[in-house]
Amino acid sequence: MSIPLLNISKLNKTFQTNKGPVHALHQIDLNIKEGELITVIGPSGCGKSTLLKIIAGLDLQYDGEVALDGEPISRPGIDKGFIFQEPRLFPWLTVEKNIAADLSLKNPEVRRKVDELIELVRLTGFEKSYPRELSGGMAQRVAIARALLRKPKVLLLDEPFGALDAFTRAHMQEVLLDIWQKNRTTMIFVTHDIDEAVFLANRIVILKPRPGSIRSVVTVDLPFPRKKSSISFQEIRFKVMNEFEQIEELELIDSSGI
Ligand code: ADP
Ligand code: MG
Repeated sequence: MSIPLLNISKLNKTFQTNKGPVHALHQIDLNIKEGELITVIGPSGCGKSTLLKIIAGLDLQYDGEVALDGEPISRPGIDKGFIFQEPRLFPWLTVEKNIAADLSLKNPEVRRKVDELIELVRLTGFEKSYPRELSGGMAQRVAIARALLRKPKVLLLDEPFGALDAFTRAHMQEVLLDIWQKNRTTMIFVTHDIDEAVFLANRIVILKPRPGSIRSVVTVDLPFPRKKSSISFQEIRFKVMNEFEQIEELELIDSSGI
């Protein structure tokens, strides 16, 4: 058996707030293999962003083990790419310079890779455009290209298409799958959209709130490209929806004090 790329074991996270402790993550166990595309789904406040930030090394205050390639995560770094809901670009830099960032485009190797990535994220012709001239979807593709140039071991995406309209979102899902199929970067993709979770994932991690914990993991064994209207797609979608309904029922029981 191959060693997982990411190993999360007995992860617990509690925030200390002035209203008392908030138990955000409870006993999370999760192993992710190299090249997997994992989606994480769950209601608002169930700890999705907290989990991603811990994997990114942006939050080191937790209990349990989180190791990337056998090494405990001890700091943020370019080996852990992070894509936020809002693309974080430098407004004063062109598309190609945003992607290169601290690397010089005068270096032929950087130039070649940036050009390759611009093609991969379908921004050919926009190399010299500024962020203000781009749509939300295009800007997010620049952010993805910038992260990929650093060849991350894992790409972490926190509801990256959440602010986009439905058509752009569907297009972005296809672009992301194309990128993943071409370079097989391991990805952990957070969403609260069931269709998106099923469309992209090798496995879906379903979280439930209070405290954030894994409700179940659903393997999506459908070939790509997937068709959202197909019966096999709908079957998995129903399975995930059913898990959500059960979470809601448990929540109702909790709040009624039964
Ligand atoms: P999600 O991304 O699934 O919506 P979050 O990970 O943002 O959920 O939050 C999980 C829980 O932790 C929530 O109850 C939230 O209020 C709490 N939380 C998140 N960040 C902080 C913080 N910096 N300080 C205190 N509580 C926080
Ligand atoms: Mg979040």
